[in-house]
Amino acid sequence: MSLYITSLNSGSNGNCYYIGNEKEAILVDAGISCSEIEKRMKRLGLNMQKVKAIFVSHEHTDHIKGIPTLAKKYQLSIYITTATLFHSGFVLDKKLVMPFSANEPIVIGNLAIKAFPKLHDASDPYSFIITCNEIKVGIFTDIGAPCKHVINHFKECHAAFLEANYDDKMLDSGNYPSYLKRRIRGEKGHLSNNQALELFKTSRPGFMSHLLLSHLSKNNNCPDLVKALFNEHADGVKIIVASRSEETAVFHIYGGDNFNLKHNKQVSFSQLSFSFA
Ligand SMILES: [Zn+2]
Ligand SMILES: [Zn+2]
Repeated sequence: MSLYITSLNSGSNGNCYYIGNEKEAILVDAGISCSEIEKRMKRLGLNMQKVKAIFVSHEHTDHIKGIPTLAKKYQLSIYITTATLFHSGFVLDKKLVMPFSANEPIVIGNLAIKAFPKLHDASDPYSFIITCNEIKVGIFTDIGAPCKHVINHFKECHAAFLEANYDDKMLDSGNYPSYLKRRIRGEKGHLSNNQALELFKTSRPGFMSHLLLSHLSKNNNCPDLVKALFNEHADGVKIIVASRSEETAVFHIYGGDNFNLKHNKQVSFSQLSFSFA
């Protein structure tokens, strides 16, 4: 059993990531509206009935605003810590609210979802790793710095959503007030293109097949620029930029390592990775 992943939206205007197998799926965050999530999943041929739960990384609006409507409509379990729920200001149906603890995987069918703490300016922020039959996908956005937890978990991933929030020069020369520039650059802000690239270059495992660059700033980044930057170092890893305005394709992470991509050119990419779109 392998994993299918997509970004339904990524950026400070809303984040929602889908990770599932043939039978069940979860969403990490739901920071766009319920109707947009439904519309985008339908376009991708993904079935909302497979989605069993939403895992909430932190309380910033771009990660939670769709949760109350979506959870109520589909009676989805919402895995959220007490601190994050409190700071969200939401009053959610108690029977849907589920706790989670760092490094204690939650099992949903054939999926195991493990949370680990991250550096970000929220009350109790987490990153997640989803495992299905030894195949691992990580979601690493909204992180001020690649701490040892991020580095260690990145090394295990067959695919990763990795924040590449800003280009240093664009942030420097842009017109954000200096306090905001400091916040973005700070230990608990966001990861720059260069920080993300350094992590990719030094810690990516040989079996990683897909990297989805995520949570790009609208004003301080450029999708073409960051894609070109990573493509120079891709060495067989498929680099995708997750959009701020639409869904990506669905990528099939089958865990057979990317040996063929690197060493057997006659195996076409479509045999290894496909889209429902
Ligand atoms: Zn965010
Ligand atoms: Zn945030």
